[in-house]
Amino acid sequence: MNSSVNLVGLSEEELGAFVEQMGQPAYRARQIFDALHHRRLQSFAEMTDLPKDLRERLPETATAATLTVESRYVSEDGTRRFLMKTHDNLPVETVFIPEERRDTICFSSQSGCPLQCTFCLTAQLGLLRSLTAGEIVEQIIIVLNDTYGVGAKPPRGTNLVGMGAGEPFLNFDSLMKALRIMAAPHGLFIVPHRVTVSTAGIVPRIRELAAISDRPNLAISLAAPTNEMRDELMPINRKWPLEKLLEACAEFEQTLKPGERFTFEYVMLAGVNDSDEHARQLANLLNRHNLHAKVNLIPHNPADPLPYQPSAADRVERFKAILESKGVHAFIRRPRGRDIFAACGQLAARREMNTLANRP
Ligand code: SAH
Repeated sequence: MNSSVNLVGLSEEELGAFVEQMGQPAYRARQIFDALHHRRLQSFAEMTDLPKDLRERLPETATAATLTVESRYVSEDGTRRFLMKTHDNLPVETVFIPEERRDTICFSSQSGCPLQCTFCLTAQLGLLRSLTAGEIVEQIIIVLNDTYGVGAKPPRGTNLVGMGAGEPFLNFDSLMKALRIMAAPHGLFIVPHRVTVSTAGIVPRIRELAAISDRPNLAISLAAPTNEMRDELMPINRKWPLEKLLEACAEFEQTLKPGERFTFEYVMLAGVNDSDEHARQLANLLNRHNLHAKVNLIPHNPADPLPYQPSAADRVERFKAILESKGVHAFIRRPRGRDIFAACGQLAARREMNTLANRP
C-alpha cells in the first residue's frame, strides 16, 4: 500500500508516464484520468472500459483511493462534516456547505496544523503531516460523490475553499498541483476562479501566488489590528508582522484581474479584538496600506477548551459600521455547522480523539 502510487494525485502527463511504464498505449492515460476525475470512480474494478487484465494488474502498483470516511456528521443547517482517515491513520476533515446560489466544499490542506493560533481548535492537534495532492483531490471526489451521487454533475457547480485544517501555504506545491488537477476540463473542471485559499500570512507564498496568472482567489486571516495583539493571537505574526504582510497584500492587489477576489478574515473574539477602537485601528491600517479588499467578520466559533466567546451580534454590527464609515467594505459571515464542529476553527477530529491518541 505504501509503495503504491495514488493515481488521483497525478497530472494527466504523469499518468502518461505511468501507463507507458506499464507497457500500455498512451491513450490509457486519458481513459484513467477520465475515470478518476470525471466519473469519479474510486476503484479500478469499476473502470470497465479498461481491459480486464489491466484492471486486475493496476492494484499491484497503484491505487484509485486512499482516504476512507470514518464518520459523517450532519448539522441542523444542512452542513456536513466528513471525518476521513489517511492510509497511515491520520484524520482529514472536509466540510460540505449547502448554499442558496452554489454549494461550497471546504477542504483541508494538512492533517492538523503547525500554526498556534490561540482561537483555533485545529492548533491543538499540532501538525500531523501535510496532505499530498492526491489526498486533497480525493476529499473533493468523496464529498461530491456522497452529495450528488457517483460521477453526477453538481447541479449548480461547486465552489471550493481551502479553509479547513492546516495552513495551505505551508503545503504550497501539493496545493497548487491539486488545483491544477481539479481544473482539467475533462476532469472535475473546478477552475481556480471557483477556489479561494486562506492563509494566516506566509508572506513569500503570497508573493509567489501574485506571480501566477491562473490562480485561486486569496483570503488573509488577520484577527488583530496591531502587532502586539496579533503576536499573541497568531504567533506566525512574529515571523511576518503586519507591515510585511500588508505590503505583500498591497502588491497582490495590484495584480488582481477582473473577477478575482481578495478578502481579509477577522475572527471576532468578545472583549479581545472587537472594540470601537480596534475597528478604527483596523480601518486605518488597511487604508494606510492603500488596501481595498473587503473584510469578512467571522464571529468566533467557541469550542472547549478555547478561552474565547463570540462577540455579540450588536457588537459585530457596530464594528462593521465603523469600518464602513472609514470606507472599508465589511461583511458578516454567518456561522455554519457549529453544532457538529464543522465551523471555522472547529476542525479537530472531534469525537475521534481516542483513535488519534492510539495512533502507533
Ligand atoms: N490556516 C489558514 C486556513 C484556515 S482558514 C488560515 O489561517 O487562514 C480558517 C479561518 O477560520 C481563518 O480565517 C481563521 O482565522 C478562522 N478561525 C479559526 N478559528 C476560528 C474560530 N474558532 N472561530 C471562527 N473563526 C475561526
